[in-house]
Amino acid sequence: MLPLFLRALLLLTLASLLGCSDEAPQRKKRRPVDRMVFRDAPEENAYERIPLPPQRVRVQARPNSATVGNVAGAPPFQMPTPVCQPGKDEPSRSIGPPTDGQLVAGCRMPAQGPGYIAVGANVFGTDNTVALLQMAAYRVTQQFQGVPAVVIGAISADGGGFLKPHKSHQSGRDVDIAYLRTTKGQPRRFELTDASNLDMERTWAFLEALLSTGEVGWVFMDYEIQALLYEALLDNGWTEQGLAPIFQYPAGANVARGVIRHATGHADHFHVRFRCPERDKPDCVD
Ligand SMILES: [Zn+2]
Repeated sequence: MLPLFLRALLLLTLASLLGCSDEAPQRKKRRPVDRMVFRDAPEENAYERIPLPPQRVRVQARPNSATVGNVAGAPPFQMPTPVCQPGKDEPSRSIGPPTDGQLVAGCRMPAQGPGYIAVGANVFGTDNTVALLQMAAYRVTQQFQGVPAVVIGAISADGGGFLKPHKSHQSGRDVDIAYLRTTKGQPRRFELTDASNLDMERTWAFLEALLSTGEVGWVFMDYEIQALLYEALLDNGWTEQGLAPIFQYPAGANVARGVIRHATGHADHFHVRFRCPERDKPDCVD
């Protein structure tokens, strides 16, 4: 454990690195978000089906330290213990691919916990999925006081399998999460998000906490929102090279680059897909 003053120093440094610049980043070629596309086809996109890249991306909590694979000397990530709703007595098992899978002994995410609320009945994840979400939500509460809770939407149904209207979300490793927004009050559902209301610092803090684990396979995020985060990070000390393994932007919305990829229907929430837990392989398919 780091001494308390070192931890405080680290947090202060982080806060200043991620601090809001005075001006919102300038947007280029903004295209209007099509509400109907989201309502009618939230998960219609080829990226829902692409296999994972072979190398992991781990993001360290400072600019320009995105690393691919496990760096020599970097401590391995220690998976936290999830808090599940009572009544679960065996480890979860994720079976099959996200688009044709099952979830045995899934961890039902409690409707609320430190820094998050989980909305709806389909909030069953693998033990790892729930542990990682709880960890990231808690981290945000440590960095930002008195802010609204992160809104977790669909994960998987009890037992997994097809979950309308999604193509994926079948094996406890896909999660829909509302963008963290600057709007006042506690949100309870997804709302269209753009430059006027995206809380870039908190959204990045949550994502960074997840990406730092190396357990994230994909993040599906509207290309326009990628642009907002990317440009804010450039303003805060990151370089294009440092961000290249993380963001598809600015290579193009159809270019295979980065962990964060554009997918239609992700302008009011982002979608995180976790890698298969090691103990579930080879039945679990990334
Ligand atoms: Zn989704």
